[in-house]
Amino acid sequence: MAGKWARVDFATCRPCECNGHDGTCAAVDACAHGLLEQEEPHESPMLMSVTMCVGCGDCVRACPIGAISIERK
Ligand code: SF4
Ligand code: SF4
Repeated sequence: MAGKWARVDFATCRPCECNGHDGTCAAVDACAHGLLEQEEPHESPMLMSVTMCVGCGDCVRACPIGAISIERK
């Protein structure tokens, strides 16, 4: 089945610099489905479920440096 999901580019993601330098990911709070999680501050977020991601792009818009993009599956 066709769908969309969010891909974090770990080469671009800089959690120490993007959100007031406190190490938290601005995109985590943007996902109304709670699908992006950081294990620890200063670590890149992980998408917890490709299947549950609806590809809405809220996390893409929340990331100030363009480290998240929408992929089609
Ligand atoms: S995905 Fe974007 S907002 Fe989240 S930690 Fe990485 S650079 Fe920051
Ligand atoms: S695309 Fe939407 S549902 Fe998927 S992780 Fe981003 S904010 Fe959440």
